[in-house]
Amino acid sequence: MARDFDDDDDDDEEDVEQVLFQGPMMGLETNLKQNPRLVKAALVPAKKMISDALSRRAGTIILEPVQGRVAIRFVVDGIPYPAGALPGQRGMAMIQMIKVLAGLNPQERNEGQSGGIYAEFAETKYNLLTQTIPLQPGVERLRIRVVNPRISFVSPKPAGMPDDLSEQLRSFTQESKGIVLACGAPESGVTSLSLCALHSVDPYLYSVYNMGARGVHTMMNVTDYEYEEGHDLEMSFDRVLRREADILFMDPLRDPAVAQTMFEFADRACFIGEIDAPTPADAIIKLVEWVGMDLVANHVRAIISQKLIRKLCDDCKQAFRPNPDLLKRLGLPPGTTVLYRAPSPPDEDDEDAPTIEELCEDCDGVPFHGRAPVYELLEMTDGMREVVAANLSLETIRQQMVTDNMRTMQKDALRLVAGGTTALEEVQRSFAPPGGRKPKDRPRPRPRD
Ligand SMILES: [Zn+2]
Repeated sequence: MARDFDDDDDDDEEDVEQVLFQGPMMGLETNLKQNPRLVKAALVPAKKMISDALSRRAGTIILEPVQGRVAIRFVVDGIPYPAGALPGQRGMAMIQMIKVLAGLNPQERNEGQSGGIYAEFAETKYNLLTQTIPLQPGVERLRIRVVNPRISFVSPKPAGMPDDLSEQLRSFTQESKGIVLACGAPESGVTSLSLCALHSVDPYLYSVYNMGARGVHTMMNVTDYEYEEGHDLEMSFDRVLRREADILFMDPLRDPAVAQTMFEFADRACFIGEIDAPTPADAIIKLVEWVGMDLVANHVRAIISQKLIRKLCDDCKQAFRPNPDLLKRLGLPPGTTVLYRAPSPPDEDDEDAPTIEELCEDCDGVPFHGRAPVYELLEMTDGMREVVAANLSLETIRQQMVTDNMRTMQKDALRLVAGGTTALEEVQRSFAPPGGRKPKDRPRPRPRD
């Protein structure tokens, strides 16, 4: 897909909406006037490239020098797509231009920098979080994470959490003791998930304190705890508990000592937080290493994890009648009469067949649009306590989750299949081992020239 972000191709100037840059984020400053040559050479191409990325719903834009050129990739719904390459000089100019727009120092290439750009595109505001990552002396990768600040997946319902699961989460916090954690693979929305767990608490019935550094003040009735100088974590927990705190929201757990203290207080309040582990089973193993099996078995209430699965495009997905054997094999309800799948790609040998992008205007023939979460919930049942105390391994934990009929990722993904949100093939793809089967994605649309 040799997309052309240069500004000298007036002949195929498309009438597409352009992004508006509205200044750097994080209190940084930019001065375009100090960089007139850069602005002349690279502002329009940068605008075009970012407009193109936003119109394709890219969540991440990556510019990376490769063999004398700068390769551009758009990550859409978690899948990276090549989005063209620029000759070295012009590519470097685009990187510098974006750095200037984000208020970063364009000359600095050997230290990573972070900033961002406020932007507006198609009547939607975006935060373009911009980060440079040095690769070797004088060479850096630019990564732009596209955030739509109006969408915050912190409330269970808008996040797509099924009612019975958010009800379950609520039940774990009701006794005002124990530990509820979120975990998951990188970029699977773990922080949103821990906030989601916090949101399942009724703030009018419970006294909720945020013990973390980040403000969660957007939530009703959550008090940000002010740490006293000279107080360690124990003294701080003691102090907040004397104020009759029920629920304490923690920063992500990274330090075994913090975890130890938290577990020691877990019979006096309920802690909600997150831990860096790919699955709940991995989280249990890590916690046992950190604080020992007794504390884990006695105080962990639940560990929740989520994964985002691409949703079929509503405009072009095709219904089909599944055969009963398939339903039985998958464990789908036998009464399921209709499932959905991606439309067949156009016949390449037929000259008159529509091109991929002509198949569907909404998704350009991808044919997925957006992502929906599927969940896994490990509960500390009696059976799980025995596993933790006597026979701990990833395998035994997973086995116990199945024995106790807990919600596992694969099982929950079938909920999306049965509901027509995604295709069976997409579920199989997203659970395939990394580096195993290649995604069966169709190529991106052909260039229009
Ligand atoms: Zn479509």
